[in-house]
Amino acid sequence: EPWILGLTGGIGSGKTAVLDRFASLGVHVVDADQAARWVVEPGRPALLQIAERFGSGILLTDGALDRKGLRERIFDNPADRQWLEQLLHPLIRAEIARHLALAESPYAIMASPLLIESGQYRQVNRVLVVDVPVSLQVARTVARDQVSEEQVRAILKAQASREARLQHADDVLVNDRDLSWLGAEVERLHRFYLTLRGGQV
Ligand code: ATP
Repeated sequence: EPWILGLTGGIGSGKTAVLDRFASLGVHVVDADQAARWVVEPGRPALLQIAERFGSGILLTDGALDRKGLRERIFDNPADRQWLEQLLHPLIRAEIARHLALAESPYAIMASPLLIESGQYRQVNRVLVVDVPVSLQVARTVARDQVSEEQVRAILKAQASREARLQHADDVLVNDRDLSWLGAEVERLHRFYLTLRGGQV
């Protein structure tokens, strides 16, 4: 049984930046978003089931899932959405577990933007929240994605509030300084997690 640190944070909070730094310290990381993409890759059974339900028009010319098309199909169809969630959620959970089990580092990280909303936080040993003031979150996302401030604020509304996330946090990394400072913070947290794991280095 691997010891799992759950990592989450709002859009543009710096999860990827933090995850990259943990990974470069040798920590095995699994990204829930990636796992969600892997389970519907060509050749996986779920893709066949999706094509059977929605028709082959839901596939792109190269055989990959038309994710945007699927999002539009389920947007105003609760029955289809529920069918899809029932199909994918157990597969994604198993995919994540399979990748976490491969960890050879003293602990592994499961990163998920929806760690709190999805209830996944109940399956991890400890929760690290990357937190930034909303103004910084919006500014960094606008700069990264070239989207409008309104678009980012709309996404923020659909996510758990900062307060809800922080309520479930064991550790909080306030990512409001520069990237070299962030690197040092991640190193400090890494040493702390190694200590929790019994001092293996
Ligand atoms: P999303 O949920 O949207 O995928 P995220 O939480 O993974 O976002 P990142 O992509 O890591 O966030 O960070 C958002 C942007 O802010 C990126 O362009 C990143 O390089 C930048 N960034 C993150 N942390 C810092 C920092 N401490 N100083 C400056 N820029 C930062």
